[in-house]
Amino acid sequence: MMIPAPLLRDVPPGHSSSGRLERALRSGRFVVTAELNPPDSANPEDVYERAKVLSEVCDSINATDASGAHCHISSMAICALLIRAGYNPVLQISCRDRNRIAIQGDVLGAAAMGVSNILCLTGDGVQTGDHPEAKPVFDLDSTSLLQAIRTMRDDGKFLSGRKITSPPPVFLGAAANPFAPPLDWRPLRLAKKIEAGAQFVQTQYCFDVPLLRSYMEKVRDMGLDEKCFILVGIGPLASARTGRWIRSNVPGVHIPDSILDRLEGAQDQKKEGRQICIDLIQEVREIEGVSGIHVMAYRQEKFVSEIISASGVLSYESLVRQPAVRAAKE
Ligand SMILES: Cc1cc2nc3c(=O)[nH]c(=O)nc-3n(C[C@H](O)[C@H](O)[C@H](O)COP(=O)(O)OP(=O)(O)OC[C@H]3O[C@@H](n4cnc5c(N)ncnc54)[C@H](O)[C@@H]3O)c2cc1C
Repeated sequence: MMIPAPLLRDVPPGHSSSGRLERALRSGRFVVTAELNPPDSANPEDVYERAKVLSEVCDSINATDASGAHCHISSMAICALLIRAGYNPVLQISCRDRNRIAIQGDVLGAAAMGVSNILCLTGDGVQTGDHPEAKPVFDLDSTSLLQAIRTMRDDGKFLSGRKITSPPPVFLGAAANPFAPPLDWRPLRLAKKIEAGAQFVQTQYCFDVPLLRSYMEKVRDMGLDEKCFILVGIGPLASARTGRWIRSNVPGVHIPDSILDRLEGAQDQKKEGRQICIDLIQEVREIEGVSGIHVMAYRQEKFVSEIISASGVLSYESLVRQPAVRAAKE
């Protein structure tokens, strides 16, 4: 029987992975990633349909891990399907549902399948989801998970110290929330995640550019933008009502009144929500130290391509404008 060649051994110098996301970020161009809303379905076509509309404009697609503690098709399965179809997904791992034995096994399995990016999350608590009676695990948290996978990758060892024959060549990410109080604490939290191994972060939704600017100022003062690629979370709101619901029910999402007033005053709120999103992208891309955007368009995937194209971030000028690779992030 013929054994297929390993998928992931061709890691370019200075890179941790052979994936498109890391290459794109290190090239210095403005990068776009997007979250795939996982279907409640065992039909692979339901995943491919959602991926197709995102892939036109994205460098990488995030496969969420039961976000909001709601049960859906798994992030691992989504990654397997996407890799089979030639995409470069980001595997999201939350610490809520699996202990260190299961997670380390998943990391090896994912890398063996061709996963080259992993987003390390503590994860939403079970009380926020549709199975509040589920037993929460939280054996690790985002920081110890980053450290664990970095140890597996760089030292070729499990947390137990046992040797790994072929370490997983993965690009490591984490979530960040520049908009949740206490605001002064946020850059310090980012620093902690970078110290633990985060090479890129994807932030919570940004609806407040002045707050992001002041966060990025502190991040630059601490030199963190030189150590980690920062992708700012962006998403269209379907209406002022949806915005109000998200603000009250989704932990960590901050939406200022000015955004809700703008939606409320519009004749076509859905369209205005997309225009707000375009305006936010254009402001965010001008902030020094921001490497790209992460689009989370819950139930609005079909508009992602239109929003990204209208924002101009895929223009030639935008692709060549950024300075070349920053060695410090290697
Ligand atoms: C881009 C993105 C993707 C996400 N994807 C998923 C997913 O796939 N699955 C999922 O379950 N969740 C997901 N989440 C939600 C995320 O897990 C929660 O928002 C979490 O509370 C914060 O992110 P973290 O997991 O990195 O936790 P951490 O930053 O590690 O925080 C860990 C704990 O500390 C608490 N904490 C954080 N900030 C403070 C503070 N200022 N003061 C006191 N306590 C604090 C948190 O509530 C949490 O309990 C995602 C969030 C983002 C931004």
